[in-house]
Amino acid sequence: MADDCLFCKIRDGQIPAKVVYKDDKSLAFEDINPQAPMHVLVIPTRHIPTINDIATEDTELVGHLFEVAARIARERGHAATGYRTVMNCNRNAGQTVFHIHLHVLGGRTFTWPPG
Ligand code: AMP
Ligand code: ZN
Repeated sequence: MADDCLFCKIRDGQIPAKVVYKDDKSLAFEDINPQAPMHVLVIPTRHIPTINDIATEDTELVGHLFEVAARIARERGHAATGYRTVMNCNRNAGQTVFHIHLHVLGGRTFTWPPG
């Protein structure tokens, strides 16, 4: 847990967010600046700053984030048509919040390679 972490504050209810899913180890909420008709962020409850900090004991937790992402996408009707999950790591990838989060984007087509 980090005192100055935006997503820890959302987890603790200190900053409001449109929460769409919550369980004992993860939380999902709407991105404040959506880049697609569906843009949800799935975070672990536990503060992990970057992908580089994922430890062996976190691998089940990280898999769980994908399970939650797939459930939300399915519930919103994007499972068959497709959607994109993204987890940025550090500066070159554009990470701005240093508490890992899985972007779940859907409702439009995406280009490849990403910008
Ligand atoms: P990243 O650039 O991968 O670190 O993604 C950070 C994401 O957090 C961006 O898509 C932001 O729009 C989003 N974001 C920033 N502040 C908030 C907030 N208060 N509530 C929800 N999403 C946020
Ligand atoms: Zn945090």
